[in-house]
Amino acid sequence: MDLQLKDKRVLVTGSSGGIGQAIAVALAREGARVAVQYRSSEDGARETLSQIGENTDTLLLQGDVSDADTVVEWFEKIDEAWGGIDILINNAGIDGERQEVADSIIEEWEKVLSINLMGAYYTIRQALKRMLLQQSGVVLNVTSVHEQIPWAGQSAYCASKAGLSMLTKSIALEVSDKNIRALCLAPGAIKTATNENVWSDDEKLAALKTKIPLNRIGKVEEIANQAVSLVSETTSSYVTGATVFADGGMVAYPSFEKGG
Ligand code: BGC
Repeated sequence: MDLQLKDKRVLVTGSSGGIGQAIAVALAREGARVAVQYRSSEDGARETLSQIGENTDTLLLQGDVSDADTVVEWFEKIDEAWGGIDILINNAGIDGERQEVADSIIEEWEKVLSINLMGAYYTIRQALKRMLLQQSGVVLNVTSVHEQIPWAGQSAYCASKAGLSMLTKSIALEVSDKNIRALCLAPGAIKTATNENVWSDDEKLAALKTKIPLNRIGKVEEIANQAVSLVSETTSSYVTGATVFADGGMVAYPSFEKGG
């Protein structure tokens, strides 16, 4: 199947590791041109480029997604190299420190919102200016099951992902008549450095699995393949304003497997 991704100009934020890295590599495999963005892990970003290989046209962008001016500079670099952008994938994000609201540190709460939500808003704003001119494009925002499932001690994370989900759905309506799609991919528990504290601990892993009907943690490649499918006009041309959950069934209320 031709996924029509050849030569597409793509930015994947937070692609120096984990899900973002796997998405960048998977899109390059389909022939896309890929801008790899990272904040602090230059080694990780170089690893992404090395996995992509030399036959792909790539860009390396460094900086903090929560800084609006930095984001403008990335898009200027993309313009210079490629003359525009076809696919934006907002993947950069942090879980943030565990803290209950009553005792929370305001700066920590704000940090999660500024990376996960404001950062995505800045990139979307830049991308849409370009996509509207060319009357084509896809914005895929990586949210989480926690755009829907509340999580004690992680209110900032949940608020940021629910916010990102509604931002996505609102822009989907703003640009729907301009041949631009916007949607969310919501992963569940995926094996990355972000949740290593859980999957590396047998007891915590067992507790986590009780929340997953498929009874296992997901792999980054499973999310990457889903992302490829969602940005492809071959497989997903009729999908916009939606969230696709790739979570082993986590949002399907596994506690209702029995009884009720
Ligand atoms: C978080 C992970 C968590 C998973 C399931 C993800 O969005 O980043 O830390 O394991 O949700 O709760």
